[in-house]
Amino acid sequence: MQPDHDVVIVGAGFGGMGAAIEFTRLGIDDIAILEREDDLGGTWHVNHYPGLAVDIASVTYSYSFEPNPHWSRLFAPGAELKRYAEHVADKYDLKRRMEFSTAVERAEWDDAQQIWRVSTADGGVRTCRYLVTATGFLSQPYTPDFPGIDSFAGQIIHTTAWDDGHDFTGQRAAIIGTGATAVQLIPEIAKQAAELTVFQRTPIWVVPKVDFAIPPAVRRLFARVPVTQRAARLVNTSLLEALMVFGVLHFKQVKPGNRAAALMARAHLRSQVRDPRTRRALTPSYDFGCKRPTFSNSYFRTFNKPNVTLQTNSIVRVEPDGIVTADGTKVLVDTLVLATGFNLWDVNFPAFQVVGRDGRDLGKWWRENRFQAYEGITVPRFPNLLSLNSPYSYSGLSYFTTIEAQMKHMRRLFGELERRGSTTFEVSDSANDAFLAKVTDNLQSSVFYNGNCGSARSYYFNQHGEAALLRPSSTLSTLREMDRFPLDDYAYR
Ligand code: NAP
Repeated sequence: MQPDHDVVIVGAGFGGMGAAIEFTRLGIDDIAILEREDDLGGTWHVNHYPGLAVDIASVTYSYSFEPNPHWSRLFAPGAELKRYAEHVADKYDLKRRMEFSTAVERAEWDDAQQIWRVSTADGGVRTCRYLVTATGFLSQPYTPDFPGIDSFAGQIIHTTAWDDGHDFTGQRAAIIGTGATAVQLIPEIAKQAAELTVFQRTPIWVVPKVDFAIPPAVRRLFARVPVTQRAARLVNTSLLEALMVFGVLHFKQVKPGNRAAALMARAHLRSQVRDPRTRRALTPSYDFGCKRPTFSNSYFRTFNKPNVTLQTNSIVRVEPDGIVTADGTKVLVDTLVLATGFNLWDVNFPAFQVVGRDGRDLGKWWRENRFQAYEGITVPRFPNLLSLNSPYSYSGLSYFTTIEAQMKHMRRLFGELERRGSTTFEVSDSANDAFLAKVTDNLQSSVFYNGNCGSARSYYFNQHGEAALLRPSSTLSTLREMDRFPLDDYAYR
């Protein structure tokens, strides 16, 4: 049977676009990119709250094969990432393959025809030879169901559905959450609102952000002599890599480095917040690295402002005009901002139902067994599926390192398929088991299993208590492994 497409890619963010670029390089051109949102860019399309910027320097947070000499700052604002995504889509002719507002609900492998059937919310069904899920890690927003939240009479805004026209001037605003998103947003709301109450359950480690505008002369140099930008990328990437390998993966052996980072964050807090009680409340009780730390020069000092209150009592219920906390206090609220993050482990992984060979349901199988994926990209009983946002796939360095390593894996795998004249691949149970055993073993020295992470409430951990997100290897060894994995780890038909 001739399927509708050679490839269906679900997601038009940087992951989906990277996969599409790799397929076209491989000469596989009949690609449909189905996207739930109404435009491309993934995270950088969905998120546009005030203060949004990258927190990995832009020379590193971009495709290595598509450097952008025009970043305005060391840490580019979110809107520049969205423009960069547009540029990549134009340059690599991806837009004509994208279909927006097309939400995939289900995909099922048809073993007789050796194809995937992909069902969309509009009732349509597409068939394809290869299916790529590129639906992101942080793409299913989480809204806690506080008692009474539906009765709230003011406006509720989740950070992933920002209302650009919303004016906080003169308002009593509240924000729930103090993750990386809230750290960027809180100083911006505090500039406008008459009162801002920050509801914090778990404090976050925050270190100073060394950020500056990139002078036009440097941008011109990057454009004219690209090797200079590559050198800057190499320096920054090497620094981040050292932090990741020593601070996170080898915590057991190199605790002092980690402790130094926590000391730096404490000194930053001390230099910015005057009130000792507020300082204490903003100090995490878990080890640096258990949860993603963040950077900011304005977050802590916002708590000195007379219109900003830090509330650490837990939320009991929401009423039409405010929030009631465990000590009986009621905070009156006009606008409630939810910076409550994402649900990775219950509703993502995968982001829609995927049914493979022998009726195996990927989400069910992951939840009932352990979360796992060979090299963080393929799964036994799921022929011709590339699951880009899989357990153990995320390179701690940057999402671009993750996708570029996966592009290498695709290159090697599809090269072998072509050499053999085959059209179907499936990873073996034994190769998958060996990979899972290896990552489990590599994680034994990490901060996740040796640090004091009990109070961190980190999304790095799944419901089984496993830190199953990060691929526990250095970037160099990941890239090497993606280039050299044994071809016999797959069966070909
Ligand atoms: P997050 O880190 O998951 O933070 C969610 C916040 O909401 C936490 O403080 C959490 O408290 C709180 N929360 C959730 N449910 C709650 C409840 N029932 N009651 C009280 N508080 C509740 O989400 P995020 O801030 O959106 O960031 C997610 C990730 O996105 C980051 O780690 C980062 O990887 C990425 N990000 C990157 C950038 C950037 O690159 N510039 C910017 C923003 C985000 P607990 O901690 O107690 O659960």
